[in-house]
Amino acid sequence: EWAGVDVSCRRGNDHDPSWFAGLDARCEDVDLVIVGAGISGCVFAERASRELGLRSLVVDKRDHIGGNCYDFINAKGFRVSQYGVHLFHTKHARVWEYVNRFSAWMAYEHRVKAAIEREDGEYEHGGKRYRVVPVPPNRDTINALYPEANLTSDEDARAWLDARRTKNDEPKNGEESALTRAGPELYEAIFKYYTKKQWDKYPEELDASVLARIPVRENTDDRYFSDEHQALPRDGYTRIFENMIMGDPNILVRLNVDFFENKDVLQKMARKFVVFTGPIDAYYASQGLPKLEYRSLRFFEEYHEGAGDEDTKNDEPFFYQPCLQLNYPGPEVEHTRIVEYKHKPNQPRAAREHRGTVIFREYSCDHGEPYYPVPNPANRELYEKYREMASKEPGVVFVGRLASYKYFNMDQAFLNALEIFDDVMDVPKEGERS
Ligand code: UDP
Repeated sequence: EWAGVDVSCRRGNDHDPSWFAGLDARCEDVDLVIVGAGISGCVFAERASRELGLRSLVVDKRDHIGGNCYDFINAKGFRVSQYGVHLFHTKHARVWEYVNRFSAWMAYEHRVKAAIEREDGEYEHGGKRYRVVPVPPNRDTINALYPEANLTSDEDARAWLDARRTKNDEPKNGEESALTRAGPELYEAIFKYYTKKQWDKYPEELDASVLARIPVRENTDDRYFSDEHQALPRDGYTRIFENMIMGDPNILVRLNVDFFENKDVLQKMARKFVVFTGPIDAYYASQGLPKLEYRSLRFFEEYHEGAGDEDTKNDEPFFYQPCLQLNYPGPEVEHTRIVEYKHKPNQPRAAREHRGTVIFREYSCDHGEPYYPVPNPANRELYEKYREMASKEPGVVFVGRLASYKYFNMDQAFLNALEIFDDVMDVPKEGERS
């Protein structure tokens, strides 16, 4: 039943066939062997070349670069993300300056809505009726879900929330974190079941930090993020990675290369060290420790067109849903969200004007590609054991979301890789350079 996303026939980016050539004699002449062509691996290769003139071999077991940020133009002409919707935002000047070296960016503020089941809801989907409200929850969310609240100011909203919020200065888990900020009604409507669907755990089984990613607002700000820099790469995310590592004579890229199947050869190739950006428990699979827990995602793709000729004659483009990302936080359906990429303004013109649209219904699962580390005390304790081994591993630097088992946003992954690079390469901090 699962459609999945088959890139093999739909990818629009041109790829250099030598990427798939496998390991050869040229790969022997490198300083760094970098495992994984995602954010961390590409930062290391790019910095090693341009800052220090070092040569890298970047290998990835997948058939593309860009890790989970990978996007491509599909057969119908839409730019879609293979591993779920990605939105770049950052408050870090260093990261913003860095990513601007590799792409033109279009200012874009992400706005998410949630469909909450209500008999008198204005939005119909899958035979059910929904009220569509802003997420993160704000004053408008409360008014839409509980009209009797009739909040007309931020002060009203604060009083409404304060009357419901649990007092707790140190929430110990996701449930406490949400109840102290949102109170029980919003907790039930927006957080509880979405979290259960996303993690197969109720919020009380997760660290407070997971739900604290989403603010609760008293005003009517409906932006998903509040960072200073929020933007879309004009030509998609993959182009950033191409500009970072392709066409640089110091950087060799080999795709479809599994590190573990070639571990001895690859480790010998690295004159300086190996940069490992995969899951840390996969690196130590033979050590007998339990595996770390990851959440994975599956996407069910559908193509839709307007009802008839009327739609195509109309100047208005056809959309399936009112926004890019519509969350379904309730238990009445199994998907967590539906993403309609046509809403992204960095679509090619043909996609923006297309008579149809593609949507991806997103489901969470525990098997498959590792997407999310699962932040809770048991996993943290287990990760510490892996970290201990990694800190003593000669000739290997562990970098990134999977290697450090952290729920990084894109900008945090960039910053983390830049900082680790400076640290291990002993690069002086900006400002300290002569
Ligand atoms: N969350 C929720 N309801 C929502 C959106 C988010 O309960 O409508 C919770 C859920 O636990 C989720 C977490 O907040 O895993 C973080 O959400 P975010 O959108 O940051 O997740 P991502 O986009 O990284 O999957």
